[in-house]
Amino acid sequence: KRIKVGVVFGGKSGEHEVSLQSAKSMIEALDPHQYTIVPIGISKAGNWHIGKNAMKTLEEEQKQAKKVSSSSPVRYINQQVGGLTPIAEQPSPDPVPSNLVNDVDVIIPVIHGTSGEDGSIQGLLELLDVAYVGAGILASAVGLDKIVMKQLFGAAGLPQVSYIGTTRKVWKSSPNETMEQIERKIGYPCFVKPANLGSSVGISKAKNRAELERAMELAAQYDRKIIIEEGLDVREIEVSVLGNDDPIVSVAGEILPSNEFYDYKAKYVGGTSTLVIPAELTDEQRQQIETYAIQAFQTIDCSGLARIDFFIEKSSGRVLLNEINTMPGFTRYSMYPKLWEASGMAYSKLLDTLIQLAIERQAEKR
Ligand code: ADP
Ligand code: MG
Ligand code: MG
Repeated sequence: KRIKVGVVFGGKSGEHEVSLQSAKSMIEALDPHQYTIVPIGISKAGNWHIGKNAMKTLEEEQKQAKKVSSSSPVRYINQQVGGLTPIAEQPSPDPVPSNLVNDVDVIIPVIHGTSGEDGSIQGLLELLDVAYVGAGILASAVGLDKIVMKQLFGAAGLPQVSYIGTTRKVWKSSPNETMEQIERKIGYPCFVKPANLGSSVGISKAKNRAELERAMELAAQYDRKIIIEEGLDVREIEVSVLGNDDPIVSVAGEILPSNEFYDYKAKYVGGTSTLVIPAELTDEQRQQIETYAIQAFQTIDCSGLARIDFFIEKSSGRVLLNEINTMPGFTRYSMYPKLWEASGMAYSKLLDTLIQLAIERQAEKR
């Protein structure tokens, strides 16, 4: 009997487009003799579309939205990041359809960023009692919150850059104290980030007080929580992790960003950043990265998959953990599947494994 797989894509986050690309690659690669595929699209406004026209419907909506946005740069920025569109402009979303998981065996929630990678979809799927690919509620939520994530990694003894977490409200109510504290504890250059996002949206590098203030303003537009980190001169190394209780680690890859850092443009707009697979590392670095990757995965109680990103400080060669991504980009050209390909696991075999892991995890719960 064929396994019925629901692929959920789109969503309200700024990573909507990436999600469509990831889902398309997956749907193409799932063997039709083995699986029946049910596409499930969530539009930027939060409307659910189920069935074979779901992808087309979302792409149409996307085109319409672009037409509107080109006349208004402000609205365009709002659409880049979910949740910020003024309430009055939002069409009221269709409720989650009650027949969502009618005889679906497994769901692949391939949604990146807020409202998909943050535990909310996972919560819905838990309530529906259906098997799904990837991290559960806890790991998803923790993995997306850079402050909580770093607190847990720190408690586990994993090496990382110095950081301060604050909130929009604390900063606005005592701006001078906040600035002084950042300068005392972190210094320049520093990286300022919204705590709950991905794809480098809202992140900037600040080299002085004026830039820091601007960076805080930007980050505060995207999240009420803000993280400020020590900015180092680094190489960026990533590994893919796969499994539930006994996860395995892929070969490592290196990113050579086309901009000053791996910002949104370097990731998606120009697309001229280079991936080097396998990354050139010393044996010691490779070993540390492998060990830390497993520890990071287990620290947040992750399952299924995660891409774990590291920094290597150029001056010292020191390995530092940067972040975990519980639903990494999954197009054929994305780092996560590329690293498995280089480790001997082809794209469609990887999907088979993830589906199997989802079914096993669901069975473990009982
Ligand atoms: P996201 O989840 O949006 O990918 P990251 O924390 O990975 O956010 O930051 C995005 C990029 O910004 C990184 O890939 C790196 O290029 C740069 N960066 C972030 N933090 C630092 C840091 N502390 N020092 C140096 N570069 C950094
Ligand atoms: Mg991330
Ligand atoms: Mg990152």
